[in-house]
Parts: sequence; C-alpha cells; structure tokens
Amino acid sequence: MLNSLRTGLNLHRLILLLAFSATLITFLNSYYSSYQVQKQQLINETLNNHKAYAAKLVSATDNFLLAAQQQLAYVGKILEADFNNQELINAETERLRLQTNSFNSTIIVNKKGNILGVSPASLNLQNLKVDSFGTKAALSYRRPMISEPYISMAGNLLIFMSQPLFDKTGEFIGYVGGTLYLKRASILNELLQVHYYQDGSYLYVVDENNRLLYHPNKHRIGEQVFDNKVIESVLSGHAGTQNVKNSQGIEMLAGYAPLSVAPWGVVTQRPLQSTLAPLDNLMWQVFLRTAPIGLFTFILIWVLARLISQPLKQLAETASTLDRPTTSQELKQLRSWYYESNELRNAMLKGVGLLQSKIGLLRQEAQTDPLTCLHNRRSLDIRLSQLMAQRCPFAVLAIDIDHFKRVNDDFGHDIGDLVLQSLAKLLVDATREGDVVARTGGEEFIVIMPKVTAKRAYQLAERLRMQVSEYYIEPVGCINVSIGISGWPLEQLSIEDVMKLADQALYKAKKTGRNRCVLDATFCQDLPLVSEVPVLE
Ligand code: GH3
Ligand code: MG
Ligand code: MG
Repeated sequence: MLNSLRTGLNLHRLILLLAFSATLITFLNSYYSSYQVQKQQLINETLNNHKAYAAKLVSATDNFLLAAQQQLAYVGKILEADFNNQELINAETERLRLQTNSFNSTIIVNKKGNILGVSPASLNLQNLKVDSFGTKAALSYRRPMISEPYISMAGNLLIFMSQPLFDKTGEFIGYVGGTLYLKRASILNELLQVHYYQDGSYLYVVDENNRLLYHPNKHRIGEQVFDNKVIESVLSGHAGTQNVKNSQGIEMLAGYAPLSVAPWGVVTQRPLQSTLAPLDNLMWQVFLRTAPIGLFTFILIWVLARLISQPLKQLAETASTLDRPTTSQELKQLRSWYYESNELRNAMLKGVGLLQSKIGLLRQEAQTDPLTCLHNRRSLDIRLSQLMAQRCPFAVLAIDIDHFKRVNDDFGHDIGDLVLQSLAKLLVDATREGDVVARTGGEEFIVIMPKVTAKRAYQLAERLRMQVSEYYIEPVGCINVSIGISGWPLEQLSIEDVMKLADQALYKAKKTGRNRCVLDATFCQDLPLVSEVPVLE
C-alpha cells in the first residue's frame, strides 16, 4: 500500500500502462512491418523493372549493331564486285553514311591500308594511309569487327565497325568501315539517350575492358571502372539485379544485361533513396489517416480503464474505513457494474455488517452491567460527558438498598441478585425515556434526570422510593432504598463534586434513618423551604 502510494501506481494507471503499451506496440509493429513489406516490394519492383529495361535496351542496341553490320556487309558485297571503280567507292562511302545515319563517318580501305574513300570528305583522309587503332586492327583482323573505343586521327573518341572485302578467289582486298562517336552526337548515343529517365535513374554501357561506352555524364565516357560488382557480373555474361553502391558511394538498385553482338553490358540503375521517397510520403499519409483512430482508441482506453478501476478504487478506499458507521451506506451506493467488483462489494457489505454488529455488541457489552442490563459506570460517564458538553442541566439520584446485607444473609446471594434485577427493572419502568439508570456498585444505583429542577427531582425521587417500598419481591418481600439528590450545573462544581454531593446526601439519608430522600442544599435553591424536605446543609 505504502509502496504503491509512493510510486503513484494504482489500478487505473496499471490498466492504462498495459493497454497503452499493448496498443502502441501493436500500432508501431504494424506500421513498421507494413513499411518493411512495402519497401521490399518497391525495391523488388524497381530491380525487376530495371532488369527488364536493361534487357530491352540490350535488344535494341544488339539490333542496331546487327543492322549496322548488315549495312557494311551489303556495301561490301557491292564493292567486292567492282573494287577498282573509284566512282562506285565514292558513291557507296557517301550512301553508307547518309542513307541510315548509322555511322558518324565511313571509310573504304584497300589491303595496303590506303584510304580509297571517306565520308564526310571534310575529314581530308583520301589517299592517306590508315593510322588509327581501329582502322589498323581491321586490316589484320579480316573479319566483321567492332573495335574497342579509341581516339581517332581526327581526335574523336569512337568505336570502329568494319566488314572485310574479298575478291572472287577469296583473297582479302580491303574493308569497309564506319565509326560511331561516343562523346559526340551519334545514333548510338541517341538510342541510349531516348531512355534517360528524369527520376534519378540512368543507364550506362561498358565494354569488355570495363570502359564506359555510354554514360549520361559525357566526361566519364571512356573512363575505366573497376571494383564494381554489377560491371563484373554483366561482363561475365550474366543478366540480373543488384543493390550496389556507385562510384559516388550512393546506394543504387541496378538491373543489367549483356549484349550478344558485342562484348558489352548495359546497366540501368536508380538511387535507392529516390525509389523509397514516395514510400516515406505514403507512410506519412498512412500515419495521418490512422492518427484520429489511434487518438480515439487512446481516449477509449482511458475511459474504459477509469470505468474498470473506479469501483475497485472506491472499494479500496472504503476498505480502509470499515469501522465507520456510514460505510454500509457508502458501499450500497457504490456503482459496481461488473461481476468481480459486484462480488467484492457484496462480500464487503456482508463483512461490514458482521463487523459492525460485532462492534455494536462489544460496545453494548462494554457499557452494560451484566446482571441488570443497566448502564455501567463507563456508560454513565459517557452520558454525563455528553450532557455536560451540551450544557444540559441534570439531577443526580444516588440510590442504595437499605440493609441489603441481610437479604443476602437471609436468602442467599442468588436471591440477592434477583432483588437487584427486580429493582433495576422497577427503576427503568419508573423513570422517563431520557433518564439514565445505571448500576455503579453492588447494590448502588445512579439515576440521571436531565432538565429537572431540584423540586421536581425530589418529587420524582420520593415517588421512586415509595414505589420501591411498595414493590413486593418474592421471596424477600418489600425492600427500602435511601436516595441522595444533587444536581448540575452547580456554580463551578465539577461532575465529581456533584457526584460526591449526591453521595453525601445519601449518607445523610442513611444516617437519619434510611428509607428516605435527602436533597443536597446547594441544589435546592428553587425549592420553597418546606420543613418536610430533608436537606443536606
Ligand atoms: P446499609 O446500606 O443500609 O447501610 O446496609 P447494607 O447491608 O446494604 O450495607 P452495605 O452497603 O455495606 O452492604 C452491601 C452489601 O451488598 C454487601 C454485599 O454482600 C452485597 N452485595 C454487593 N454486591 C452484590 C451482588 O452483586 N449481589 C448480591 N447478591 N449481593 C451483593
Ligand atoms: Mg451499599
Ligand atoms: Mg446498602
């Protein structure tokens, strides 16, 4: 009890704590798990989209390269038939470049490496010997070829595609080739740029030497990138998805696929953060929408916790004051609306009833003379203090049986008791309802009569004495009593003084022959001094 008071814990708070924490944990858990599920779903969706997208780009790039290769092969067939015809060479070089726009420049070279035709003519390479990496490689390679990126004689970063030419005997006579610029506008760039997203996602193309063939940041084209798991995977011929950090350390969701026409790989990727940005907003919306219901739930819990704890709280408060006379009434008024509290209340009501009747009994026993059932000394003192507190004046009659010893001697102690009981009954019957009749000693009684004058007190005492003396008690016969009378308030006298004065008056009654009433002199100021009224001077 003390502990709970100190910590401020009670049933209401405990229920609140339990229900709040359970609700909060459930709410947070469902919020967190739905966030995790949606996040994973978004990531998977993005990864799959990018994988499919990379595959699509690969197919488009493959198709483009195949078409370019076919164009070279077609021109090659025409030239093989008439390789000495300079006009034809000039015309086909021009047509190859202009007809489909596939190549940035086209070139026809004989087996010695002499440039027979070039388009655009502005390159001024006619009749020169080939001198760049790609054009020289094509001479020795003698098969359809797509070169690595290199810097051309004119200073452009490019790749070179070529188709070898053979005469009728199958001897190598030269080749036809075309360039694809990597940094400047080219059909390859256009093809890849079309797909450039605005949502932070982008794509790049790498060749077998980890060199960037395409990148939205033109300055990075031609750069070699190592230690990148996605590039390693795509260059080893795998298509797939990966979470990866890019060269700037930004987390990316990447999809990738390798080309089949060239040893290149296409990677498309999107920053994880921009992928998840809509989710944060979504979760905020979810929170805003669930907040009113959450608030309502909390209020409901608070009210219910109060409703549940209230009857028990009241029962607990009542339990600490079970001995109060109002407890039963309080318990009956208590609203205990559910089974357990109702049972507790009923049990407490029963307990309180038993306790209070026991207390009443004990109180009565403690204030009652067991032989006569009259007030005992303690009860008399209580009544006297009550009267004094109320400043209620009263008369005191001190009554003693005359020669009672003889009764005991003649008839025995039991008969003596019987006489005491009979006298007690007579005293009760003869006095008024507000009077107090007490047995204060063996055969001594006190009667308190509130609000009576000395004269009236004397008359009542005298009537009492007469009634006793006329009252026949079997087998003893009639007995007599002597009565001393005093009253309160008497100037500044205490109750002890008043009792003593009554005793002294009684003593005088005994002294002056017994079976009589004697009034204390200080009390009889309102009495006309009648000679027959014995007064204690
Ligand atoms: P008196 O008062 O007239 O002077 O004479 P008394 O014989 O009454 O004298 P006293 O008051 O001295 O004696 C009281 C007797 O009352 C003594 C005792 O044996 C008897 N007594 C006291 N208490 C009881 C009791 O409870 N029952 C019975 N049977 N007798 C009691
Ligand atoms: Mg006596
Ligand atoms: Mg006596």
